[in-house]
Parts: sequence; structure tokens; C-alpha cells
Amino acid sequence: MARIRNFYAGPAALPTEVLEEARDELLEFAGCGVSVLETSHRSKEFDQVHNDAIGLVKELIGLDDSYHVLLLQGGASMQFALVPMNFLPEGGSADYIVTGAWSQKAVKEARGIGNVRIAADSESDGVFTAIPKQDQLDLDSGAAYCHLTSNNTIFGTQWSAFPDTGGVPIVADMSSDILSYRFDPKPFGLIYAGAQKNLGPSGVTLVIVRQDMLDRCSGSLPTMLSYKTHADKNSLYNTPPSFGIYLMNKVLNWIKRNGGVDGIEKINAEKAKRLYDAIDDSDGFYRNSISAGDRSKMNVVFRLPNEDLEKQFVAEGLAVGLVGIKGHRSVGGIRVSIYNANRLDAVEEIVSFMNNFSEKKR
Ligand code: PMP
Repeated sequence: MARIRNFYAGPAALPTEVLEEARDELLEFAGCGVSVLETSHRSKEFDQVHNDAIGLVKELIGLDDSYHVLLLQGGASMQFALVPMNFLPEGGSADYIVTGAWSQKAVKEARGIGNVRIAADSESDGVFTAIPKQDQLDLDSGAAYCHLTSNNTIFGTQWSAFPDTGGVPIVADMSSDILSYRFDPKPFGLIYAGAQKNLGPSGVTLVIVRQDMLDRCSGSLPTMLSYKTHADKNSLYNTPPSFGIYLMNKVLNWIKRNGGVDGIEKINAEKAKRLYDAIDDSDGFYRNSISAGDRSKMNVVFRLPNEDLEKQFVAEGLAVGLVGIKGHRSVGGIRVSIYNANRLDAVEEIVSFMNNFSEKKR
């Protein structure tokens, strides 16, 4: 079977070029006579891959030397707990901005560890259709950090400009939009992202942490749960997820070859515009109720006139080679995830399918 158009929310499409390179090198890589799957994480060949990946994250985002790039395991969900364990001191508190199910999970974990203040919560009738504006935030200038989720993978909202926290370090879950646009990293004390959307396969978790945060890390944590351990050992305290890091390095190189973050951002804007135009020009057949300006450029969610039509949409989409377009099980509807590896031609194909479908079923 040929490869089809993949719109899964994660794990998600990887650039075909990356998979082809990995296939070609699977039995033997970097001239070392063995597979990357078989080589020691202390070998000079793996060391090169590991350090290249870390260097590329720094270069692509534009991080200065105050930032450490860590390649860990445990997923974004593990960071929900590690962030407060490391940075939420006894007697202190942290601000959380709630914009969806993933922020709620981050809050739940943090509450088990220390004091959490909700600086804003955009839930309305069980759904999240907006990102809070600056004047809707109740920020604490004494907070240990302010946590937010940059892109709401399930409800399809995204911060278009990050809030001014007045110097309180922002901690961001960027799992579903990391490296898809340029942003100023300076206000961020820590950024984390599971790799399985924009960076590579599942199993690697990217953590970017600023030195001043590390200086404040709790000293009483088990070794593996301390960000300091991993920063001190360049993410090689124990065996890292080496094959994932190898693939991630290839994805990062692919981003670089495709114009870096700026080149990718331009294409992402065009892709999202094409999809939202198809929704907005459908005379109400497709509906997206996200506030203008808060619509995600990564996860485009919409409803059809009824659930039966949504089922048909998913089934007929699959029949013409479009996979992964069913909405998250908690909300239903349709979700088309258009991460970096999905290029304009994939979006053109689904837009054409949408137009044909609505014409036929209206
Ligand atoms: N945060 C966000 C924004 C996500 O989209 C996801 C996964 N879809 C997670 C956290 C959880 O990630 P993981 O499965 O890597 O723990």
C-alpha cells in the first residue's frame, strides 16, 4: 500500500525524506558498521547525533547560552509533575492559565505538589473556544512561574502572542506547536514538548530550561526527577531514547533545509488559511466556533451538520486516502492536524475533499 495523507494529532506525519534516510541507514549508520538501534549511547557516532540534535534545537529557536536543551523520556505528561516538583517551593505558589484539557491535567498534577493559583480559565460550558486576553489574566507577581499551554491540541486554540507576565518565568507546554513559528524565548523559564507531533517519534521529550530555573531546583528530589541531573549530564545520565533522538535530529535537519522556523511558519500560515477559508466559505456546512485570532494553525477542528455526516466524512476521507481526521474522543467532530511535516499539497487535497463532500451532501 502506498503512503496516504496523514492528519493524525500525534504520533503524526513525519517527513517522508526523514523516513527514507532512516530506512537507508537502518542496518548501518555513520560508517560504524552497526545500526543506530544497536550502538552504545556513549559511542562517538551516537554522541555526534545527540549533540547535533541539541545544537539544532538551539539554533532553530535562537536560544542563547543561558538555556539548556534536554532530551528526556516520560512525555509531556511527566513534565506536568516534574515542573512543580522542581520549581514550586513550599509556601510559594505558581500561576496556571487554563485553556484546555492538557492545561487542566497540568493543574491536577501541580495541585498534588504545591499551591496553584488559576490566573485565568477559558472554559465555558465544558468547552474552550478562546485564549484569555492580557486584561483577563489575574497574575501574581510573586508566582514561582506561570504555566500555559501554547496550543490546545483538542479544542483547536492557540496563543497568537504570549502574555506579559512581568518577569515571572513562563513555563510552556509546547507539545503541539513547537518549532512551527518564531517566538522570543526570553520570557520562558522552561518549555517542554513531547516529540511526537512536530519533532519526531514518540518516546523523546524535549525540555528547554533556563539556568536561573535550574539554580532554583528543589534539592530533595530523586535523581532522575531533577532537571538539574539531566542538565549536568547533557541528558546522558542514563540511557536516552537514542533512536528517537536520531530521528529527531533528522527532522531538525529537515526543518533547517526547509527555511528554518521562518520558512516553516510561512507555509504553516498558508496551510491554516486554506483550511479555515474552506470552513468559512462553506455556507455553514462546516462550523468552527473558535474566536477569531485564537484559531490553531496546527489542529483545525470543525463540526458538520450532524454526527452521521461526520462519520461519513471520516469514512469517505479514508477511502480517498486521508487518515486521522476524527476529532478527539472527548469532543467528537473533525480534527485535521497539520503539523510541520504536512505540506501544502496535503492541505490542498483535504480542502478539495471538503469542497466535494459539502457539495454532494448539502
Ligand atoms: N500536552 C499537549 C498540548 C498535548 O497535545 C499532549 C498529547 N496530545 C500532551 C500534553 C500529552 O503528551 P504525552 O502523551 O507526550 O504525555
